[in-house]
Amino acid sequence: MLYYCITSNIAIVLGVNECARKRLCTTLKNMENDRYDIVIVGGGVSGTALLYALSHYTDIQRIALIEKYHLFGQVNSHAKNNSQTLHMGDIETNYSAEKARQVRGAAGMVKRYTETLPPEERDTILRRVQKMVLAVGQGEVETLEKRHDALKEIFPELQKLDAHGIAEAEPEVMRGRDPHELVLGLCSSQGYAVDFGLLARSFARRAQEAAGNTVNLLLGHTVEQIERRDGVYILNTDKGPVRADIVVVNADAHSLGFAKSLGYGKEFSLIPIAGSFYFTPQKLRGKVYRVQDPRMPFAAVHGDPDLTAPGLTRWGPTARFYPALEAGKLSTMRQFFSASGMHRIATWASFGSILLDPLRFWYLLRNFFYDLPVIGTYFLLPQLRKIVPTLRGRDVRRARGYGGMRLQRVDTRTRELLLGEGKIIGDKIIFNMSPSPGASVCLYNAMRDAEAISGFFPDEDYHFDKARMARDLCEEKIETIEDPSLYDTYAS
Ligand SMILES: Cc1cc2nc3c(=O)[nH]c(=O)nc-3n(C[C@H](O)[C@H](O)[C@H](O)COP(=O)(O)OP(=O)(O)OC[C@H]3O[C@@H](n4cnc5c(N)ncnc54)[C@H](O)[C@@H]3O)c2cc1C
Repeated sequence: MLYYCITSNIAIVLGVNECARKRLCTTLKNMENDRYDIVIVGGGVSGTALLYALSHYTDIQRIALIEKYHLFGQVNSHAKNNSQTLHMGDIETNYSAEKARQVRGAAGMVKRYTETLPPEERDTILRRVQKMVLAVGQGEVETLEKRHDALKEIFPELQKLDAHGIAEAEPEVMRGRDPHELVLGLCSSQGYAVDFGLLARSFARRAQEAAGNTVNLLLGHTVEQIERRDGVYILNTDKGPVRADIVVVNADAHSLGFAKSLGYGKEFSLIPIAGSFYFTPQKLRGKVYRVQDPRMPFAAVHGDPDLTAPGLTRWGPTARFYPALEAGKLSTMRQFFSASGMHRIATWASFGSILLDPLRFWYLLRNFFYDLPVIGTYFLLPQLRKIVPTLRGRDVRRARGYGGMRLQRVDTRTRELLLGEGKIIGDKIIFNMSPSPGASVCLYNAMRDAEAISGFFPDEDYHFDKARMARDLCEEKIETIEDPSLYDTYAS
C-alpha cells in the first residue's frame, strides 16, 4: 500500500494521467512481488473464456492462468469427453421456456465468437448440424406437442415433424419402425457441434495476442494447495508458488476440493458419474435427442455426429458410478475422496438417500451392464433402437478413450442432488463447478464472473467494459446477468 502511495504520488508529480498512473502503480507492484492481479486455475473452456473476457474487456494488468496439462481443454472440455452440443434449449426438453430463452442468448455468444475467427480456424471449432428431439409413444408425443407451443416464439426455426417429415430429415429413425408407433419430432437446421477443447485453445491464444505479456499462461503447472497470507493468495504449484490478489478456480469438479481447503462449501459433496460413449457406422445426419424423463438427473442416450470421428455416429453418454474426478484417471480418486467429504456420515447418508431411490438405482444398475465386455452392448441396444430401430449388436462398439465425468453436486444438509452449476463466491476468490451446459454458456459465465470481480476491487481500480463485450458477442439483448447454468439444468 505504501508502495502504491509513493509511486502514485510520483506519477502525479510527473503529470501522468489517472489511467496511466494506475497502470504504472500496478506494474511496479507486480514487478516487486512477482504477483498477479488475478490468477485463474484451470485451462478448460470455462477458465480460458474468462481469460479471454478479462484480457479483452478489462484493464487488468497482470493475469495468469494455471493449467496442469500441457494443452488447454484436455479434461471435460475435450471433444472426446462431452457430446459437442451447443445447447440452445430447443431440444433439451427439461429446460423451461424461460431457461431456454436465456440459454439461447448465452450459447449464442460462442457462435458469435467463432464468427470473429478466420474461416479455417472457425471451421475446426464449430460445425452447423441438423438437430432433432424425438418423441416416441403417446405420453412423449403429448409432452413434445405442448413444448412446441411454448417454444415456437423463441425458436421460430423449430419445425414440427410427423412420421413422414422425420423420415425425410432422418431416414434411419423411421426405417424398420412399427408403423403404429406414435412419433413426433422437433427439428432445426440451426444446430451446432462444437469442439470445446479447440475453443479453449482459441480463447487462450486470442487472450495472449490481445494482452501480450500481461497474460501469463502457466501450462504444465499443477496447483497443489491454495492458502491465504496477509490478504494475498499463494498458489503452491509443483513448479513453485504463484501469488495473486484474486483467484478464480475454474477446475470443474476439482474446484470443490480447493474451496473446502479454504473453508468454503463444506456442506457439498459430489456423486461421481462417468459418461461413456459408443460408436456405430453413420446412421444419423445430425443430432437426435430424446424426450427427457423429468425424474432423471441424467439425459437419455442420444446420437450425434462426431467432429473427431467422421463417418460414425456417436451414442451416449451412459452413466456409471466411478469414484474419481477425471474419466479414466484413477489417479484422481484421492482428490475425489477428499473433495466429496467421504469421511462424513452426512455424505454417506446423502449418497444412500439419492442412489437408493428406486428409479435412479435401477437406472445406474442398467448402465452398469452396458460396460460389461462383449455382452454390454446388447444391454445398451434397446436404448439405441428407440432412435434407430434397425441397429444390430454387431454395429455397436465402445468408443475407447471417449467419455467424461459428470460430478453431480449434493447438498448434504438436504440430501438433495443439485443439477445446476456450482458457484461459491468467497473473499476475493470464486470457485466454479460447471456441468452441462457449462461449455455452451462459457462466455456468458465469463461475462458474469468478470462483473463479479469488480466487487473485489477497491474504488475504481478495475474497469470491465461489459457493454462492449455484449455488443461484440451477444446476438440478442441479454438482460439478466444471472447464470443460466446455475439452476435446473440438463445433464447431457
Ligand atoms: C459426458 C459429458 C457430456 C457433456 N456434453 C456437453 C455438451 O454436449 N454441451 C455442453 O455445453 N456441455 C457438455 N458437457 C459439460 C461440459 O463438458 C462442461 O460444462 C465443460 O467442459 C466444463 O468446462 P471447464 O473448463 O469448467 O472444466 P474442464 O474442461 O474439466 O477444465 C478444468 C481444467 O482444470 C484443470 N485443473 C484441474 N485441477 C487442476 C490443478 N490442481 N491445477 C491446475 N489445473 C487444474 C484441468 O486440467 C482442466 O483443464 C458434458 C459433460 C460430460 C461429462
